[in-house]
Amino acid sequence: MAFDYQVVVIGAGPGGYVCGIRLAQLGLKCAVVEKQYWGGTCLNVGCIPSKVLLDASHLYHHIKEVAPEQGIVVGEVKVDLKKLNQHKLNIVKRLTGGVKLLLEKNGADLIFGAASFVDPHTLEITTPEGKSQRITAEKFVVATGSTYRTLPGLGIDGKRVISSDEGIDPTDFPQRLLVIGGGYIGMELGSVYNALGAEVVVVEFLPEILATLDQDIRKEAAKLFKRQGIEIRTNTKVTQVKTTSKGVKVTMEPAAEGGFAGSESFDKVLVAVGRVPNTEDLALDRAGVKVDEKGFVVVDEHLTTSQPHIYAIGDVIGGAMLAHKASHEGYQLAEKLAGNWAHFDFTVPAAVFTFPEIAYVGMTEEEAKEKGHEIKTGKFSFGANGRALSLGEADGFVKVIGDAKTDELLGVHIIGPHASDLINEATMALLFGASCEDFQAAVRIHPTLGEAVHEAALGVDGKMIHAINR
Ligand code: FAD
Ligand code: NAD
Repeated sequence: MAFDYQVVVIGAGPGGYVCGIRLAQLGLKCAVVEKQYWGGTCLNVGCIPSKVLLDASHLYHHIKEVAPEQGIVVGEVKVDLKKLNQHKLNIVKRLTGGVKLLLEKNGADLIFGAASFVDPHTLEITTPEGKSQRITAEKFVVATGSTYRTLPGLGIDGKRVISSDEGIDPTDFPQRLLVIGGGYIGMELGSVYNALGAEVVVVEFLPEILATLDQDIRKEAAKLFKRQGIEIRTNTKVTQVKTTSKGVKVTMEPAAEGGFAGSESFDKVLVAVGRVPNTEDLALDRAGVKVDEKGFVVVDEHLTTSQPHIYAIGDVIGGAMLAHKASHEGYQLAEKLAGNWAHFDFTVPAAVFTFPEIAYVGMTEEEAKEKGHEIKTGKFSFGANGRALSLGEADGFVKVIGDAKTDELLGVHIIGPHASDLINEATMALLFGASCEDFQAAVRIHPTLGEAVHEAALGVDGKMIHAINR
């Protein structure tokens, strides 16, 4: 049977569009179907818009608080929220236009509409105007991503009670913001609003915010966020949210000992309690593709679903819901589908773009111990790094974890300036199976923030030069 395409990719986020571009580059006849926006969550309402706001709010904070210490005195500093929002939209437009262009120029077909399976080799695609068409393919890649999770009894109305989709538009600025969920989104957007002048309260169900991070890092993060004025209420759950003409009345109760109890009013509530996979509209059952109890597509280690000619990548398969993980999966899967060698066993670094940034790769101290490693750790403060001091951003530290018996490098954790860029050398070291000795042996340029990584690496063996070894 002749199919319309060799491969059809469903969803044009960082997973799907990268897969589509690479498939086309490799000469496969392919199409990418997208129902809402080219570039997906990441480019339109996720990574990029949130980082535009973060960078601007950081600059605002820097001009007000840090620049005077550097001898730079400016007049009154104000934020033009409408202009900031337009600046964000311009960047989004530029990048999403680029995605479309790259797909087209590389030879992929672009089909705009919502896809659902008719049978294992046929998709029905319906445009927003209601027109539909059917296409067939030998193989499919499901890359439909995720959407914000809601809580029972907590109706997100997009005005007073908002998700991150609305949170990335700061123009209707809340003077008092409640953030439900102290995870990635809650702390990133909470940091933005705090830096722009809002009073921010974060409610977290668990005993700590950013619970998946290394214990030392999350403690330092909570300390620094509190110092910046963000109020953090852990072990606390929201039991009622009532929208009034002036704002939102929220009732909170302890989820465990030490939790907060009380009723308070806020201008807005941002709900950031995780994300759910976009699988409901796909009719995956008609294609014989299994999902788990939470709706995530079940795949094996080669990203193959329960149907051998259908694959899935990115947020829709769960695990780390990160754009670079989705893209890497898309790229590698394209190689596999073209018959090339593909690299599916990879280490994924992660970053939280707060002030300061947080980034990590490999095991946390808790994970390393759970896995039976006898560990050794090195820690170096940015307060003793000349470059961090000159930047006026000397909070935080680098923590390196190694195996005390084998010297294997197990994990690197950074809280401090440009952590998201600094972590990349650690990812490379882990990829190549570096020992702590290898990691110590690399020469870092002086004066750079990378020297803090070097010192922390030396620290695992008590060999730091610019700090007292303990
Ligand atoms: P998505 O980007 O969600 O794309 C899926 C696409 O599929 C969407 O465009 C959707 O419209 C389309 N689609 C869905 N169903 C259908 C259908 N039936 N037919 C056709 N098309 C369909 N990650 C990072 O790594 N770094 C960050 O800094 C970062 N910041 C974030 C900030 C926020 C506020 C949010 C919400 C997320 C952030 N993320 C970040 C996470 C990142 O956005 C996701 O991990 C990433 O977008 C996942 O890519 P994906 O391709 O799997 O899915
Ligand atoms: P998250 O899983 O990071 O954090 C959700 C938090 O909400 C958790 O700490 C959880 O304990 C808490 N929570 C859950 N239910 C609650 C309740 N009823 N009351 C109070 N707290 C509750 O999810 P997120 O922040 O929504 O982000 C979703 C995903 O998007 C992340 O897991 C991440 O993968 C991705 N993301 C990544 C980045 C980045 O890479 N920098 C940025 C933003 C989002």
